[in-house]
Amino acid sequence: MKIIMLGAPGAGKGTQAKMIAERYNIPHVSTGDIFRANIKNNTELGRKAKEYMDKGELVPDELTVSILLDRVAQDDCKTGYVLDGFPRTIPQAEILDQELTKLGETIDFAINVDVPDENIIRRMSGRRACVSCGATYHIEHIPPKKEGICDTCGSELILRDDDKPETVKNRLNVYHTQTQPLIEYYSKKGVLRDVDGTRDMKDVFDDITSILGQA
Ligand code: ADP
Ligand code: AMP
Repeated sequence: MKIIMLGAPGAGKGTQAKMIAERYNIPHVSTGDIFRANIKNNTELGRKAKEYMDKGELVPDELTVSILLDRVAQDDCKTGYVLDGFPRTIPQAEILDQELTKLGETIDFAINVDVPDENIIRRMSGRRACVSCGATYHIEHIPPKKEGICDTCGSELILRDDDKPETVKNRLNVYHTQTQPLIEYYSKKGVLRDVDGTRDMKDVFDDITSILGQA
C-alpha cells in the first residue's frame, strides 16, 4: 500500500504516519527527517537544505526529488510506504507519478489531515522533537513521561529551529501557495481522503484506519 500524507506543517502528518507505518508494517518515509539527519551529520546535502529550512522555505526540487526516489527504491519499500512531507509541489508529484508509472504502480491513498491555520501555530510552538531518534511530542497534548526527555531513547527534546513563530508563518504561506494545490491534484486522481485533524490523535487514526482498511 502506497500512501501520501497531505496537510499543513504541524497538522499531524508525522504523528499519523508513524502510527500507520507500525499498524500496516510499511516504512515511514519523511523527507524532513532525511534532511534533519543530514544536518545532524553535517553532510553537504544537510548544509544546503538547512539554508532553506531555517527560513521556512522549501528545499529545491533538484535536492529533494532524488533523495526521495532513492529512498523508495530500497528493498523495504517494495510492499509500500507512507510518505510524509513529500510531495510538496506539483512538479514533485508529477515526477513521483512518472516514476511509479514506469513500475506499473500508483498511489493508493492521499490522506489530507485538515487543521485550520489558527490551530497550527499553537501546535508548532508546543512541538518538541527528539534530537536523536526524531520522535515528536507536544507539551500539552502529547507530553513525554519526563519533561524534556524522549520516552523512546532517553535523549533531549528540543523546539525545532523552524518551529519558531516567525518561521511557522512563512511555512504556512509556502504551504498555501505551493503544497495545497496537491489536494486538487490527488482529488482528480480519485485517491484523496479528508480527515479532520483537529481531534484527538487516536480519533484521527481511527478515521484513517477505516479508510485504509483493517489489514
Ligand atoms: P506534521 O508532521 O504535520 O508537521 P506533527 O505530526 O509533527 O505534524 O504534529 C505537530 C505537533 O502537533 C506535534 O507536537 C504533535 O505532537 C502534535 N499533534 C499531532 N497530532 C495531534 C492531535 N491530533 N492533537 C493535538 N496535537 C497533535
Ligand atoms: P517537515 O519535517 O516535513 O515539516 O519538513 C521540514 C522542512 O524540510 C520543510 O519546511 C522544508 O524546508 C523541507 N522539506 C521537507 N520535505 C520537503 C519537500 N518534499 N520539498 C521541499 N522541501 C522539503
